[in-house]
Amino acid sequence: MFKRMLIANRGEIAVRILRACRELDIDPVVVYSQADKDSLAVQLAEHSWCIGPARAQDSYLNQDALLTVAKATGCEAVHPGYGFLSENADFADACAREDLVFVGPSGDVMRAMGNKAAARELMQQAGVPVVPGSEGGVATAAEAARVADAIGYPVLIKAAAGGGGRGMRRVFDPAQLEQLFEEARAEARACFGDDEMYLEKLVLNPRHIEFQIIADTQGNIVHLGERDCSVQRRSQKMVEESPSHALDQDLRQRMAVSAVAAARAAGYVNAGTIEFVLDPSGAYYFIEMNTRIQVEHPVTEMVSGIDLVREQIRIAQGLPLSVTQEQVELRGHAIECRINAEDPARGFAPSPGHVGLVHMPSGCGVRTDSLLYSGCELSPYYDSLAAKVIVHAPTRLQAIRRMRRALEEFTVQGPATTVDVLHQIMYHPQFVRGSYNTSFLDQNLDELLAWSSYGKEA
Ligand code: ADP
Ligand code: ADP
Ligand code: MG
Repeated sequence: MFKRMLIANRGEIAVRILRACRELDIDPVVVYSQADKDSLAVQLAEHSWCIGPARAQDSYLNQDALLTVAKATGCEAVHPGYGFLSENADFADACAREDLVFVGPSGDVMRAMGNKAAARELMQQAGVPVVPGSEGGVATAAEAARVADAIGYPVLIKAAAGGGGRGMRRVFDPAQLEQLFEEARAEARACFGDDEMYLEKLVLNPRHIEFQIIADTQGNIVHLGERDCSVQRRSQKMVEESPSHALDQDLRQRMAVSAVAAARAAGYVNAGTIEFVLDPSGAYYFIEMNTRIQVEHPVTEMVSGIDLVREQIRIAQGLPLSVTQEQVELRGHAIECRINAEDPARGFAPSPGHVGLVHMPSGCGVRTDSLLYSGCELSPYYDSLAAKVIVHAPTRLQAIRRMRRALEEFTVQGPATTVDVLHQIMYHPQFVRGSYNTSFLDQNLDELLAWSSYGKEA
């Protein structure tokens, strides 16, 4: 096993990776920006190194600084977490050049899947259904209009380099296509430094269903079932669960076969996620592959009993998967709620600052992955994810009840958070029935907000 590993990330995922390292007897090296000098990861680490100022460009995205620390501290491997450099093919290549094992797929595989327009073509060739859309990218608004006329409105304009729900626009009215195309392109350029755009048919009221796969260097690929991530605001996930209420055994099996075929076609190695949209008729379409550990990975860990970060590190070491497909047993039901330091009443605006008392829920079947501690500071420089509450129970209804009580216990003084809205979601009839889709949150937000503030005014 590796002796020492660099954790090239921050926040709750840095803590998550640190824990996996310790359990494997790997010495973790934590890096931090000046804004994160008192972070939980730094406090838990024996070795921590400052890599620059708060701005991500100057710290967590500074490849030279990361590689310098990795080499200077004698690391053999680098875990990129999610976000930041985790899907940066050049960084994976740079690690390889420095003789550091990048815990993830190769740069070439990342490049192939990282361009979402190109990934669609690869998936089509592999027989994986994709949403009707453009063949490759569309260079101009005029070309987008031609494709949209051919596939029919409504359409979704997407950025080939997209992520985090950015660089996307829905178009219902042909008269608005040009303006929305230019808007999406400007956002893509600003967020990703890449303005290649493509087009998909907009699937109405879909569920977001994704499959977790793990693949080793010996060519074994195993799937660990699905996650339903349809509770989204601004195309970003807020609640995830496994299994999905929308799949029967037959559909689950067909989607799993597609997910494994997708990973095989990509030549994929390490942990990855194949994302699909499922339309109300039961047709499903590949939308993208995430070539990294995902925020919501604990949901799968709870139902499968498999530690995905441990698995990632073992794979990077060249070891075979610790399970065969036949040995995978998915048990019970798991739900994750993402606690963001955001104010839902102000359009989910970030709410950084000083945190007073923190109390994290625990007890039977409850897990919290978090960066919070009493007295910590939430930096305005980074993503607003502060904690994830994950519950596991024998049935879906028991899991929902467990999540309600866990969220009731969750205390964080200071910043506004999404806790109360999440709590209300756990009572909403559509959620409880399991009959929600990706429009659920937008359609019900006013009602959820009204209920979550009920009795709290003056
Ligand atoms: P996942 O599919 O792993 O749940 P998301 O799609 O929610 O991930 O986010 C993907 C990545 O984008 C994450 O690494 C996250 O840090 C980042 N991200 C999430 N929300 C935002 C945002 N509002 N702006 C920029 N990046 C974001
Ligand atoms: P990102 O890289 O930002 O995660 P995705 O391609 O995964 O982008 O899309 C983000 C979300 O947008 C999905 O989870 C889904 O809810 C919605 N979405 C994406 N493609 C479509 C589509 N063709 N039709 C309907 N909804 C879609
Ligand atoms: Mg996605």
